[in-house]
Amino acid sequence: MNLFNKLIAATLPAVPKPIVGYFSSPYIAGDTIEDAIRAARDLQSRGMMTTLDVLGENITRKQEATAYAEQYLQVLDAIKAENLDANVSLKPTQMGLKLDKDFCLQTIRSIAAKAKEYHNFVRIDMEDITCTDDTFWLYEELKKDMPVGTVMQAYLRRSDSDLDKLIPLNANLRLCKGIYVEPYSASYKDREIIRRNYLQLLERMLESKCYVGIGTHDEYLIWGAYKLIKQMSIPKDQYEFQMLLGVQEELRKIIIDDGHRLRVYVPFGAEWFAYSVRRLKENPQIAGYVVQSIIKGYFGKS
Ligand SMILES: Cc1cc2nc3c(=O)[nH]c(=O)nc-3n(C[C@H](O)[C@H](O)[C@H](O)COP(=O)(O)OP(=O)(O)OC[C@H]3O[C@@H](n4cnc5c(N)ncnc54)[C@H](O)[C@@H]3O)c2cc1C
Repeated sequence: MNLFNKLIAATLPAVPKPIVGYFSSPYIAGDTIEDAIRAARDLQSRGMMTTLDVLGENITRKQEATAYAEQYLQVLDAIKAENLDANVSLKPTQMGLKLDKDFCLQTIRSIAAKAKEYHNFVRIDMEDITCTDDTFWLYEELKKDMPVGTVMQAYLRRSDSDLDKLIPLNANLRLCKGIYVEPYSASYKDREIIRRNYLQLLERMLESKCYVGIGTHDEYLIWGAYKLIKQMSIPKDQYEFQMLLGVQEELRKIIIDDGHRLRVYVPFGAEWFAYSVRRLKENPQIAGYVVQSIIKGYFGKS
């Protein structure tokens, strides 16, 4: 499968944009805020919360960060106007982390301040390992007076000791496996070790009363999370499940029907093409998932 995934990923940039768009469409809400709001409204009508993500990362000029921040303010306005159970997720490198840390902090602060005014919330996504220390720094700074949370990646060897520092802050954390390709020295590669680390981190977060976004489509982890929630009598308002738009929709429905809260990550924006191609190239396994689900969908219908 690996070679197949790599081949798909390598040929993607040569595929015409409308074709990539067709294949990416289940995973991306569209180009505009209206598209994202429509998707959020639809998901909410089916019992789900959402987090809206304006696609973009690794900007090279501060004006780009300011323009993205402006879009996030509009998203927060739209969420309020539509009375949606939705928050926002953003990326530090989209807000200028690699250009100027203090500028990045102030830019995210301007978004978080609006979220605070609206009793809403900002999730700071976690990017590759060159961003980890700075992202936790941003989180700690903003957490002092703003409604923010961040993300922990179970594939990183360092996550257990990072959690030692985050627990005393009563952190609000999304837990995921991690999507970037990191060196072996920094990250576990074995699927079973990553799963076990995920569940151990989750247990520590739940027992220390952190609010947790359980971000996974891996049924083994969802099963493990169910067991922990039951054994530890965790109240429903201390956690939520989280999934990406267009992924494992059947499992998503099972989780909701079981009475748990679930939030869908809804990416949208003009940068969808660059984002899709980069993501698929970065992690060929995802290209494999996409093609598998297309084949499944095609043969499922015929
Ligand atoms: C809400 C949310 C937010 C996230 N935020 C971050 C973040 O801030 N930083 C970060 O590094 N990572 C983030 N991730 C990605 C995460 O780290 C994983 O790479 C991703 O979720 C796949 O891991 P998994 O736990 O779903 O398990 P896997 O074993 O990878 O997936 C389980 C099954 O889900 C399906 N699947 C998983 N991903 C996809 C996909 N993209 N498209 C189609 N099918 C798929 C496949 O059928 C697969 O067999 C986020 C994930 C979620 C759900």
